[in-house]
Amino acid sequence: MAKVLVVGGGPGGLSAAIHAARRGHRVKLVEKYRIGENIRCAEGFFDALKKLGKPSAGVKFKVEKLIVKIKNTHEVDMRMLNLWMIDRSEWQKSLAEEALEAGAVIEENCPVSPKDLESLKRDYDVIIDASGAPSVTSMAYGFSTLYKQNCGKTVQLTLEGDFSHIVPNFKVGLLPGLFGYYWIFPKGPSSANVGIGNFGREPVKLRNLLEQVLEIEGLSGYRVTREIGGICPTRMLPRLSYDNILLVGDAAGLTSPLHGGGIDMALLSGMLAARSIGLGGIFYEKNLKKLLGPRLEVEGAASRIWEKLGYDGMEEWVGKMLRTKTYRLLLQPTRFNIFLFRTLARIGVWYFSIVL
Ligand SMILES: Cc1cc2nc3c(=O)[nH]c(=O)nc-3n(C[C@H](O)[C@H](O)[C@H](O)COP(=O)(O)OP(=O)(O)OC[C@H]3O[C@@H](n4cnc5c(N)ncnc54)[C@H](O)[C@@H]3O)c2cc1C
Repeated sequence: MAKVLVVGGGPGGLSAAIHAARRGHRVKLVEKYRIGENIRCAEGFFDALKKLGKPSAGVKFKVEKLIVKIKNTHEVDMRMLNLWMIDRSEWQKSLAEEALEAGAVIEENCPVSPKDLESLKRDYDVIIDASGAPSVTSMAYGFSTLYKQNCGKTVQLTLEGDFSHIVPNFKVGLLPGLFGYYWIFPKGPSSANVGIGNFGREPVKLRNLLEQVLEIEGLSGYRVTREIGGICPTRMLPRLSYDNILLVGDAAGLTSPLHGGGIDMALLSGMLAARSIGLGGIFYEKNLKKLLGPRLEVEGAASRIWEKLGYDGMEEWVGKMLRTKTYRLLLQPTRFNIFLFRTLARIGVWYFSIVL
């Protein structure tokens, strides 16, 4: 049985600790702050591949509709998807309980520095780095800029006010000139996470745009209780293991290139890293790419189409995708979909518009 160190007590690290401890390994998880404290998230739990099921704790509601505001407002029925609004802090604390029950040791307020890694690599058989982006490993090995090459930059406010007209739905919107979107994810009838993300390379004054969103959505007078920002790394890193270190979750570059969500991939990569203990980094990389590669490819190609179409094109395209129900192709990545989306992204979307 291996001696395992997990760095980071987010979804990726907690999942790795639970699965590694359940397999009988000696696991220690170290978290820089307290579990459930350092969270940058809109708290939408989207189990895109339907491999995880309902979160074990912290569920606020199952999302019924996605309201999409471009020029017009569109509605997408989400009931067939595994999409929940959760309280991430409560959920992560419950995952920490599961890890402790499985036999893991958890140390809070215990940051690992890049310098510490050298000696930790000798003290432990395996290190699972789930410290987010940029990861501790990236700072030690000098690749921390890789995360910023493909990422969504975000700003988010938690607001108090009346959101009863949106619950139990999520609302997202596009803005002219922005390759990205804003979101309103209600935590309940009287508070919501309201944010905006820029997936383009051009810098954008996100905070100003968010003010515009608040005006458009009639939320300007609402009380701000929290403000956060952060990046969503949207490309799986070319290498996921360094010596005896395995990267999981955001540290591995695993958020969706289409929407920036990464909780599900953090859980899945944590689980696969735990299963790979004793089998090596190549085994982990191979299995993770097999599991997530097709989805990431379809979503990546779809996001390139979105970038080419722009605001006006998306109004037309989203309307057509919804009317013909072809948006479902995005949700079930198959060889056919990969080929279709990859080709469309290459040849230009005018063809797709004609076909539809
Ligand atoms: C504004 C915003 C909104 C988002 N909304 C959603 C959403 O609605 N749905 C979704 O699925 N995804 C969302 N995401 C992405 C999602 O939050 C991440 O993909 C997810 O948290 C990744 O989990 P993780 O465990 O890899 O990393 P993290 O959740 O970042 O956890 C990393 C942990 O490591 C700890 N840590 C960091 N450095 C050290 C260190 N040196 N030593 C010890 N511990 C350390 C941190 O304190 C933290 O607890 C959002 C991201 C942003 C920025």
